[in-house]
Amino acid sequence: MKTTNSKRLFDQAQRYIPGGVNSPVRAFRSVGGNPLFIKRARGATVTDVDGNTFLDYVASWGPIILGHAHPAVVRAIQRAASQGTSYGAPTEQELILAQMICQALPSIEKVRLVSSGTEAVMSAIRVARGFTKRDAILKFDGCYHGHADHLLVKAGSGAATLGLPDSPGVPKAFAGHTLTAPYNDIEAVKSLIQKHWRKLACIIVEPIAGNMGVVLPKKEFLRQLRTLTRQHGILLILDEVISGFRVAYGGAQTLYGIKPDLTCLGKIIGGGLPVGAYGGSKDIMDLVAPAGPVYQAGTLSGNPLAVTAGIVTLKKLSTSGVYEKLDRRGAQLAEGLGKAAKQANVPFFQTRVGSLMGGFFSDTRVVDFSSAKKSDTARYAKFFHKMLERGSYFAPSQFEAAFVSTVHTVSDIDHTIEAAHQVFKKL
Ligand SMILES: *Cc1c(COP(=O)(O)O)cnc(C)c1O
Repeated sequence: MKTTNSKRLFDQAQRYIPGGVNSPVRAFRSVGGNPLFIKRARGATVTDVDGNTFLDYVASWGPIILGHAHPAVVRAIQRAASQGTSYGAPTEQELILAQMICQALPSIEKVRLVSSGTEAVMSAIRVARGFTKRDAILKFDGCYHGHADHLLVKAGSGAATLGLPDSPGVPKAFAGHTLTAPYNDIEAVKSLIQKHWRKLACIIVEPIAGNMGVVLPKKEFLRQLRTLTRQHGILLILDEVISGFRVAYGGAQTLYGIKPDLTCLGKIIGGGLPVGAYGGSKDIMDLVAPAGPVYQAGTLSGNPLAVTAGIVTLKKLSTSGVYEKLDRRGAQLAEGLGKAAKQANVPFFQTRVGSLMGGFFSDTRVVDFSSAKKSDTARYAKFFHKMLERGSYFAPSQFEAAFVSTVHTVSDIDHTIEAAHQVFKKL
């Protein structure tokens, strides 16, 4: 595979951009090698600057659920652009997207649009703190909620502990307001709540964890979180930035029947342009300025291009049969990869909800971050590069999700599975 153009651009990019990329996982650090620079994408494929074309299972990390450059989305963006790209004043399109979100997710009565998932989570937590007049938050080890200061925190070796920052630049005092527990460990949550509930504003969780690979919630985990938070006046925030409109039109909360106090959205609701959103019941959301005293603002919030792309995407997703199709394609890919692994005797622990899936190179069940970390990441790196050589682009990290879109065909996926049969034998 020729990669000279990507290599040249990456060399130059490293002179002007830290690490040559504008978001760290793109740099291929955990699988080795140089990242591919993408020239264009269409439907189920991306094409790099050397002319290599790949079936894409990264989907820009989730947003591209209708495939790349979907004609209806592109047309709508072009039409919107010709009317001006930003006004800093309200538009009817914002109202339409807000209504669509409120109708899709019954827990949301009012919603505020922002420009990224990070911003959505950061703002939702501010609202939770304002509402409860408490400062601490509880998150789960291995869950990613964007890069805001108080969220860049992990737990000490499996035990639930007080937070220490993951990154230089995050003051200890900020991280100190963040408690962490292992995902799926309700006992750890109970004991933290028992000790700290008076200062806990919220528990934030990915209802399906998608940033340590894909880790599914245990059957009662989310329900127990809901009960415990209610009992102690703690808000429950579901971070559905990945799962919202991905695993079902109404997100994981509809799938599992959980009603959170606040929900964070992003990725799909922007149709491939930058959008995030946070919402919840009227009484909580009316704390947000200018209705209430909790300040949050954005020059490009509710941007007309991004909102238009979101509206068209959600409209397409709301037509009948879409999620059934996504589930069939997801099942086809997951079963195919599973068979290939089995025939080659490679331990491979799989997780999937519809078109969102994970595959851990591990012979242990993965239920939290510490079990996820037992995966053979060197083996994943080999899998990644060999699949790439055979035309399938998976995420450049063991700890990321794979996605299929509505335009991946049965034969696209067959092609990937065939490649996987060759590749697993060489691992
Ligand atoms: C991607 C993601 C975010 C952050 O969204 P950005 O748009 O990258 O800021 C937050 N939470 C979850 C669960 C995510 O997957």
